Amino acid sequence: MPELPEVETQVRDLKKEIKGLTIKDIIPIYKKVLKKPKNFKLFKNSILNKKVLDIERLGKNILIHAGDKVILIHQKIAGHILYSKWIKKGNNYISEDKIIKKDPKNRFLIYLFVFNNGKMLGLCDPRKFSKIELWSRKDIKKIKEIKKLGEDPFSKNFTFNYFYGKIKNKNKSIKSVLLDQSIVLGIGNIYSDEILWQAKVHPTKKAKELSLNEIKEIFKAIKQVLREGIKKRGESFSDWRDIFGKKGNYDKYKKVFKREGLSCKRCKSAILKTKISGRTSRFCSNCQKYD
Ligand SMILES: [Zn+2]
Repeated sequence: MPELPEVETQVRDLKKEIKGLTIKDIIPIYKKVLKKPKNFKLFKNSILNKKVLDIERLGKNILIHAGDKVILIHQKIAGHILYSKWIKKGNNYISEDKIIKKDPKNRFLIYLFVFNNGKMLGLCDPRKFSKIELWSRKDIKKIKEIKKLGEDPFSKNFTFNYFYGKIKNKNKSIKSVLLDQSIVLGIGNIYSDEILWQAKVHPTKKAKELSLNEIKEIFKAIKQVLREGIKKRGESFSDWRDIFGKKGNYDKYKKVFKREGLSCKRCKSAILKTKISGRTSRFCSNCQKYD
């Protein structure tokens, strides 16, 4: 699932590519991806001929400001967006870009936005769990309250006091707490494992049992690890691709995620895995002791 570094990479690229363009058409290849409004005609009429004013990230959501509306895209487990030009051949859309065309992961187009320069924004998702919602620009400011979302790790409101206050009494594993979008936005399975390795904290340790120092280390690691993920343009070991259809470079830098059985990059001990509330978590048997 695209997490904060992947979505941030997409948003930064989109700002360069589609800001200022006008939406000229929408092709709903898989109609059910539109969740709000359910009526496609209403959706289309609301954003047709609207200019893209800005693109921003809200947690793992991409927000495209178009005229007085905001298109919200959540890529869920396996979705990613691409920027290219596709030609319809039979039932298939074929990209003009070699990189996009070559990689099978880029072939599951489910929605297309066509711009005035002839290029398109395509939502690609083999599992079709992604969603698109339309909001008014006025209401999008309230979405954080509506959806009870926590703070973004890079917002000025994400202070140590905020984080400490939110987690100190939580009777849940720290792994689950990091995945909880009502506490901190944008962290998923990959980066939560990396953050806890960096902070040397066992993933199953309950948040309320953490020492002040451990919480400080986790708080620091959240920003460090996510910043590194953005710098490397996201991960490279799932279905995710950037808007040009390319993999990220984080794979070489990850310390624990999907490294079970291999040795710790810090102490050479074995990386183990465990299940926490249905999610697999990896950790170092030596650096991340449960004590
Ligand atoms: Zn270790």
